[in-house]
Amino acid sequence: MAMIAENLSRLKQTVEETALSCNRDPKTIHLVAVSKRKPVLDIRSAAQAGQIIFGENHVQEAIKKQKSCQDLNINWQMIGHLQKNKVKQAAAIFDTIHSIDSIELAEILNRALEKISRTMDCFIQVKLTAEKTKTGITPENLPRVASHVQALPNLNLIGLMGMPPFTPDPEQATPYFRKLRLLRDELNQTTLPDNPIPELSMGMSRDFRVAIREGATYIRIGTLLFGERIYDHS
Ligand SMILES: *Cc1c(COP(=O)(O)O)cnc(C)c1O
Repeated sequence: MAMIAENLSRLKQTVEETALSCNRDPKTIHLVAVSKRKPVLDIRSAAQAGQIIFGENHVQEAIKKQKSCQDLNINWQMIGHLQKNKVKQAAAIFDTIHSIDSIELAEILNRALEKISRTMDCFIQVKLTAEKTKTGITPENLPRVASHVQALPNLNLIGLMGMPPFTPDPEQATPYFRKLRLLRDELNQTTLPDNPIPELSMGMSRDFRVAIREGATYIRIGTLLFGERIYDHS
């Protein structure tokens, strides 16, 4: 499992080089190690190598993993669509959610957090393409949803998350990442001037360099750290 430590150190190096190449402070870029469908041993290897933030997209899987990692200092983040019947469990285990994709979800999550006296950092997931299969808030609805979410006492809105459509060349993701950054900037100027949101969760194994150039502050990396996932339907 020295492999994962090596992958992590190479990835950090690339993140740093990419940040410096576009005059950004590497410290502003947070690495979410996406451990979905990977064994606990892999999480342990990465944690031993210094990784703290881990991303999961299934509540049941995350609960099991958290139970076997209680001796480790891990910050668990939900990166996938959260089903409403899993909200109660998610409220108890995650520190951050990247995928708030409706006002209803935000409200029931807020209520579940309130009951157990917890708060959670959150991102609103924005739909960046017209593809029917992609979830997220449309840019038109973003101001209304953002002001609603920001008013919820147990959710702490920190940023926007978005995913570009698949393109053969990662460089082609540039306009989508740029769009998310501009949406955040506009939102901060018009809707959230008193409490602007700083973060942008964008970029995965294929396209994180492009995302960093466009302002990503959270990159979500699975394959590059842990290798290919088998039976990957996401
Ligand atoms: C799986 C997943 C990732 C990581 O993807 P890789 O290409 O393996 O880096 C990032 N974000 C989300 C939402 C995912 O579901």
